[in-house]
This record gives sequence, C-alpha cells and structure tokens, in this order.
Amino acid sequence: MKHHWLAWVACAATALAGGASAVWQGEEQPRYQVESLRGRVVWASEAMRRLHGVESDADAAEWLIVLETPSGELHPLVKDARGRAFYKDERLRQMDLELLVRRYPGTPLLKVIRVYRLRDGAKYELDYWCDVCAITMYELKECECCQGPIRLRETLVKP
Ligand SMILES: [Zn+2]
Repeated sequence: MKHHWLAWVACAATALAGGASAVWQGEEQPRYQVESLRGRVVWASEAMRRLHGVESDADAAEWLIVLETPSGELHPLVKDARGRAFYKDERLRQMDLELLVRRYPGTPLLKVIRVYRLRDGAKYELDYWCDVCAITMYELKECECCQGPIRLRETLVKP
C-alpha cells in the first residue's frame, strides 16, 4: 500500500512538471516545421550498408531507425511515444509509409506525429486498437486497460 502511494506521488510530480514546461513552451514561437515525408522505415545500419557500403558496429544493428525516401535520403527518427512503434513492430518496417513529422532547427532528427500506410493508391492512418476497451494506442504492447492483445489498425483517410 505504501508503495502505491509513493508511485502516485511520483506520477503527480511528473504531471505537474510536464504542465509547467508546456506553459513555458506555449509562450514561445513554435520552433519546428511540419512536413510529410514518404518512404520506408529501416534500421540505419542496414541502410548505410546497402546504400553506401558503410559497416556499423554489431551492437548498433538495431540502434537507430530512419525513414528512407525513394531517392535514398535517410532521416533519423526520434524514439518517443510515436517513434518507438517502429522499434517494436517489424510490420511497420515492411510498408510504404507517409510520416507527418516535425523538423527542428539544427538537427536531422525528426519527431513523428502521425503514421500513414500507402497501399493500392490509398492512404490509411495507422495506430493500435483494443477491440475490448475501444481505446487507441501508438505502440505494440498489451492493452493499457485490459492487458489483452491489441491490433494494428488501418483507417482509410478520405482524399
Ligand atoms: Zn483492452
């Protein structure tokens, strides 16, 4: 019981800190650009070997995820609530995708905002869905609510 109480205090403190920082950021101009990029998400080490003959250390094989555009540009993706999905679900690394991303000044790292699959001339928004709880998640895991299995969901985006 004591343990639970401590966990709650830690959670509340994090939420407060997050709120304060959000207010502070809101007073500034947005310092990012929103872009849509198409391609496939791959491991950086594999792409560097295939495209440029550059070998990475063995322990870097699955270290960094990048978006590879059709022209061979490699855009590294931040590993966060959205970017993490590409590390955990290999199906996402076998699809033609369009990513809505934020680009920040002075860094090649892109933050993923939305993920779309391009298939048969149509565009589908990708997320994860629990049929029991009817809630959306953004990475492959047990349901946050019922701990049951969730499924990768494709929702057609109307043109
Ligand atoms: Zn559930």
